Amino acid sequence: MHQNCLECTRLWSEYALVTRHFLKLEGRVQTARDSQDRQTAAELDPLLERAAAERAEIRRRIQEHELLPQAEAANA
Ligand SMILES: [Zn+2]
Repeated sequence: MHQNCLECTRLWSEYALVTRHFLKLEGRVQTARDSQDRQTAAELDPLLERAAAERAEIRRRIQEHELLPQAEAANA
């Protein structure tokens, strides 16, 4: 992570937000599975998949961004 970089801060807080959302959904899917609630699990699965994809995408953007030199990154 760059020092004092707004874009890093923005990306990481976005990542934290999506991660929290993902973990919450994962917990709900697990609860539904544990209680044999197949319908709820089936409804939540696509949402969980989408959250996982979103999370991976932001992680990718962070990695891409961190490859940039700090100066350029600050203006990005
Ligand atoms: Zn940065």
